[in-house]
Amino acid sequence: MDERIPSHKTAAAADKPCIYFSIGKECGLLSIGKCKGEKCSFRLTEQEYEAAQKQWKDRMNRMDPEKQIEISRKYYGGKKQW
Ligand code: SF4
Repeated sequence: MDERIPSHKTAAAADKPCIYFSIGKECGLLSIGKCKGEKCSFRLTEQEYEAAQKQWKDRMNRMDPEKQIEISRKYYGGKKQW
């Protein structure tokens, strides 16, 4: 058994770990200490994160160019993050 995988995680969860889980710190997102594993509604795998990022970038790129500039200035210091 891989010692980096916490015992409270199932094998399925360990195959696709949550991006917020950090070794030694447990959950890096919530102030709950011990990870809730697959039952957690905030759980996000690397693949899910990448898919969500792609979806967001595609949506932003379809937006009116003027609106994109407005959003980049308001929320991203003028840099287009998509
Ligand atoms: S599954 Fe939930 S509790 Fe566990 S690390 Fe991810 S966000 Fe935190």
